[in-house]
Amino acid sequence: MAFTSTDKCLSCGGSSLFPILDLGKQPLANSYAYPGSGTGEQCYPLGLVGCTECSLVQLTGTVAPEVLFDYYPYFSSYSTTMVEAMDALSERVVRDLSLSGDSFIVEIASNDGYLLRSYQKRGIPVLGIEPARNVAEAALRAGVPTLVAYFGRDTAHQVVSRQGRADVVHANNVMAHVPDINGFTQGMAMLLKEDGTAYVECPYLGDLISEVAFDTVYHEHVLYYSLTSFDALVRRHGLAVTDIERLPRHGGSLRYTVRHQGAPVAAAVGELLAEEARLGINSPAYYQGFAERVESVKRELLDLLSALRADGARFAAYGAAAKGTVLLNHVGIDTRTVGMVYDRNPHKQGRVMPGVGIPIADPAELVHDMPTHVLLLTWNLKDEIWEQQRKYRELGGRFILPLPVPVVL
Ligand SMILES: [Zn+2]
Repeated sequence: MAFTSTDKCLSCGGSSLFPILDLGKQPLANSYAYPGSGTGEQCYPLGLVGCTECSLVQLTGTVAPEVLFDYYPYFSSYSTTMVEAMDALSERVVRDLSLSGDSFIVEIASNDGYLLRSYQKRGIPVLGIEPARNVAEAALRAGVPTLVAYFGRDTAHQVVSRQGRADVVHANNVMAHVPDINGFTQGMAMLLKEDGTAYVECPYLGDLISEVAFDTVYHEHVLYYSLTSFDALVRRHGLAVTDIERLPRHGGSLRYTVRHQGAPVAAAVGELLAEEARLGINSPAYYQGFAERVESVKRELLDLLSALRADGARFAAYGAAAKGTVLLNHVGIDTRTVGMVYDRNPHKQGRVMPGVGIPIADPAELVHDMPTHVLLLTWNLKDEIWEQQRKYRELGGRFILPLPVPVVL
């Protein structure tokens, strides 16, 4: 079965799920294919349900990992902003936890090792765990010890028996993608020393709802955490959230500091839990109107594009990311409206956007093609792209920001 409908909460196992959003059938957001190859067109149901018991929000169903993984080529496209942010993070963690050459850092879903390299630079032993072999090989070539594996109880056991438990575990943008989330969290508890600290980054559900960021809903992104649902998950495995930090990444993320239960808990945790309780984050009422706001963004964007076109506008888009696929497909923007999507990642250039078939090109072409307006699909990287495309702007080009309310910048 390529697609399995969800009838139970993947965290608490509760069966009282309520509907939040239905985006219909959508292509896999990362299935960038070469033109005419016929791939990237298979569609699967996409939508969200909430759990009344633990407040976790999850997809209405999951696509089999082998199907998703099929479409996951090596896209090492980390923005300069991200690399700098990770370097600053490692510097702070080394200082705050007084780490040394005797410490041990593990990163789950370590990608090509760009975070771990910044620890190595500071003399701290590291291990990356990364399931995609070609990505892990890039890390190994860069000198970052990396185990090719999915993370769960078995992998945690293997690492602990070979190298001992970890002082620090990082898990950035992975816990939202793991259907067996209890196996993953139990593995993290096994891996972490009694006084160890884990830092987990995930997109924050509160920001998704307030920013109408429906384009962050796609098949790889299975789970959508609030602090309430995340804390319930880790507590089931003897851990607790001891601090939180709001991050602007991916349209709004939380970085959870997680330790074994008994460690002191910062005031910010209780404050956000109280805020979520006040909003009623586990009740259907909190989500009422969200689906309607998604539909009104769609209508407003189509109206804006057709008004601009009546004035002679020619459109392109920027950012061949998963969220771009979701937005273009859900709003119904294809090659009749947008001629090209520009993206810096050379692995994506020459391919087409899933479902809508818009070709992807090098941003260097932008100032030659000179569309009058560029729809900014990767709105989370707005400031960076705004600076990079100074010349396009100086030549009179304009950007359109699609969310939370479509606007010409
Ligand atoms: Zn639940």
